[in-house]
Amino acid sequence: MQAGDLGADFVRAEVRGWIDDHWDPELSLRAWRDRLADSGWGCPTWPSQWCGRGLSSALGRVVADEMSRAVVPGPPDGVGMMLVAPILIDHGGDELKGRFIRRTVTGEISWCQLFSEPGAGSDLAGLQSRAVRDGDGWRLSGQKVWSTGAATADFGLLLARTDWDVPKHQGISAFVLAMRQPGVTVRPLRQMNGHSSFNEVFFDDARVDYVIGEPGGGWAIARATLAHERRLAAFPPVPAAAAGRAWQEAIAERTAAAEPHKWYPQRAGRPDLAIPQARALGRSADPVIRQEIAKLIELSWSARWMAERAAAARAAGQRPGPEGSLGKLASSKIAKQAALVHSMIAGTAGLLAGPESLLGGTITEIAISVPAISIAGGTDEIQRSIIAERILGLPREPDISVGIPFRDVRVG
Ligand SMILES: Cc1cc2nc3c(=O)[nH]c(=O)nc-3n(C[C@H](O)[C@H](O)[C@H](O)COP(=O)(O)OP(=O)(O)OC[C@H]3O[C@@H](n4cnc5c(N)ncnc54)[C@H](O)[C@@H]3O)c2cc1C
Repeated sequence: MQAGDLGADFVRAEVRGWIDDHWDPELSLRAWRDRLADSGWGCPTWPSQWCGRGLSSALGRVVADEMSRAVVPGPPDGVGMMLVAPILIDHGGDELKGRFIRRTVTGEISWCQLFSEPGAGSDLAGLQSRAVRDGDGWRLSGQKVWSTGAATADFGLLLARTDWDVPKHQGISAFVLAMRQPGVTVRPLRQMNGHSSFNEVFFDDARVDYVIGEPGGGWAIARATLAHERRLAAFPPVPAAAAGRAWQEAIAERTAAAEPHKWYPQRAGRPDLAIPQARALGRSADPVIRQEIAKLIELSWSARWMAERAAAARAAGQRPGPEGSLGKLASSKIAKQAALVHSMIAGTAGLLAGPESLLGGTITEIAISVPAISIAGGTDEIQRSIIAERILGLPREPDISVGIPFRDVRVG
C-alpha cells in the first residue's frame, strides 16, 4: 500500500466517523451547514481557517465520495461556491474572507457574476462601468448585461473601471457589490427559448464597499474567474435516498438556484437522447443518420477522456489552465452535432413546441438553446484564439490598445 492510499483510507475513516457523530436528517439545512463549515468537511480543499481542511484535490474527492455515499447535503451549488469563494480565498483580504466565505458555504447569501457589458463581452477588458472613490468605499455607475441569476442574488462579483489613464487591462478593479440597494436596478431579459435566465443590471450611483485585492488588479481576478467558469459543473442530481428536513430545504434551495439553468441540458444538445430517439422514431437504420450519430459519439467520448485527463491534472495539484478552452470548444461542437442529429431524426416535427410535440418540447428546445453554448463563458472564436496563442504558441492577436490610456481607446 502506498502513502497516498494510507492518506485516503485515513481521511475516509475520519469523514465516516464525523458524519456518524454529526449528521441528523432532521436538522435544519442551516444547522447542518454550520457543522460542515465548522468541521471543514464541506470544502475540504480550502484552507482550514476558511471552512476547509487544506486537503489535496485527490483527498477532496475522497471526502466528496464519502459525503455522497452517506447521502448528506453539501454546501450550495452555483456561482458562489464555484467562482466567488475560490476567488476570495486566492485574492481577497482577511476582512473580505471573514465577511463572505462562511455565509456562502452555509447558503445564507447568494451570488451573481457582473462582468459582461453591452459593449464588452469578448472584449471584456474594454468594460466601461465606472467606480469612483467615495470616502471608505466607491460609487458605481454603468450597465451590465447577460447577468445570470442577478434578479435573486444578494451580492455580485463585479468588474468596473477605476482608472481611465492607464492601458485598458490595468485600470480595472474587482469588487463585491451588494445587489439590494437603491442604486442597483435589475431587469430580466426573455430568451428565444422562452426562459428568462439573464438580466440587465443598471448602476446609478450605487455604493460599493469592498474591493478584492488591489485597485487596478481586477484583470488577474477576471482571468482566474473565467478559468474556473470554463469548468463550472452542472447542478448534480438529488440522490434518490434524500430524506428529512435538511434535504427538503436543500432541494427547495437547489430548485430555486437551478431555475435559470433549467434549459442547460438542452443547451448541451442532449447527446444521450440521440440513439433512443432514432430507435423510437424508426430512424436508426438510416445510413446517413447513423453516420452523424457515430460522429456525435466520437466527439463526446474524446471530450470525456480529455476532461478526465484535465481532472487528473487538477487532482495532481495543477491550477485550471488553457485546457479549459479545449473542453469548452468541444462542448460547443458536441452540442451542435447533437442538434443536427436531433433535427435529422425528428424532421419537421422537431420544429413544433408545446407539450404534445416530441418529448414534450425537449427536441425543439435543443434546437433553439444550443447556440448559447458557443457564446456563454467566452465564444468559440475566443476559445480558438486562446488555444492558438497559449497552447500552440502562435503569434498573439494584434491589439491596438496596447500601451494606450483607456480614455484614448475606441471601444464598444
Ligand atoms: C448562457 C449565457 C450565460 C451567460 N452568463 C453570464 C453571466 O452570468 N455574467 C456575465 O457577466 N456574462 C454572462 N454571459 C455573457 C457572455 O460571457 C458573453 O455573451 C460572451 O463573452 C460574448 O460577448 P458578447 O455577447 O458581447 O459578444 P461579442 O463580444 O460582441 O461577440 C460577437 C461575435 O464576434 C466574435 N468576436 C468578438 N471578438 C472577436 C475576436 N477578437 N476574434 C474573433 N471573433 C471575435 C465573437 O466570437 C462573436 O461571434 C452569458 C452568456 C450566455 C450565452
